[in-house]
Amino acid sequence: MTFSTTDPLRDLIRSTLGFYERFGWQPLTDDAIRVFEEEVREVTEAAQDGTNKAHIAEEAADVIVTLIGVCQASGVEPEQLIEQLYAVIAKNDAKNHDTHIYTDGKIRRRLPKSPTT
Ligand SMILES: [Mg+2]
Repeated sequence: MTFSTTDPLRDLIRSTLGFYERFGWQPLTDDAIRVFEEEVREVTEAAQDGTNKAHIAEEAADVIVTLIGVCQASGVEPEQLIEQLYAVIAKNDAKNHDTHIYTDGKIRRRLPKSPTT
């Protein structure tokens, strides 16, 4: 399989779906979610431990790959997922301190300014 190397999102999805196809994996949504949740638990434990950055990265990659499996099992077309990923990138790139604020551990939209009286 040839990868574009200029579009890592497409490469990852293509690789993951190719991996599933090679093994004849036709995921059921519940199975895909179970595997995804296992990987979320693993990355959570690794992150909370915090001592092995390589292990955290490995588990994070597993989360992403198994999330692609959840989308596949749910009937999401790869291009739809890619479009959404790029939409999120564009939305996040457009956020700034005028539009959002970091508070309570989360970046949130600023409340509209109340009209001055
Ligand atoms: Mg794992």
